[in-house]
Amino acid sequence: MSRFQGILEKVELTTAFIGKKAKDGLDLLKLSRDYSKEKNKLSLLYEELGKLAYQIHNNESDNVNKIETLCSQIKDQIKTVAQLEQEINILKDETHTVQEDYETEEIHRSEDIPKPEAGNDGLLLLKFCPECQIGNNPEAKQCISCGHIF
Ligand SMILES: [Zn+2]
Repeated sequence: MSRFQGILEKVELTTAFIGKKAKDGLDLLKLSRDYSKEKNKLSLLYEELGKLAYQIHNNESDNVNKIETLCSQIKDQIKTVAQLEQEINILKDETHTVQEDYETEEIHRSEDIPKPEAGNDGLLLLKFCPECQIGNNPEAKQCISCGHIF
């Protein structure tokens, strides 16, 4: 195996060990940095436009064409900032959805435990938990109260 191949394999292994969540976190950090950088650029363009407008107002400048240039630059910059904002929101939503799915699954798991039911004679048929003495459905594999596995 060549030295280069060895290095490549190591890189692949390292990448595989970075979990999805960690990767999302890094993406979010990078996006947030880009977002503030681009937003700052937008502020500078607005500032430049304001300064130029002030100079024109005071007859210190008559560069009206520059206003057009700055306005189209600002228009593009607004788009860039909005796109980054959207990407950040999508990434945040994804993280949320994963968490919500997990929570739903938790609820399902506890609903899978059969609840105590009445027999033909109307009396509850119960299997008592040795841990917490709570009455469970005779079919229950897990205690409805403490989670003890029968
Ligand atoms: Zn129990």
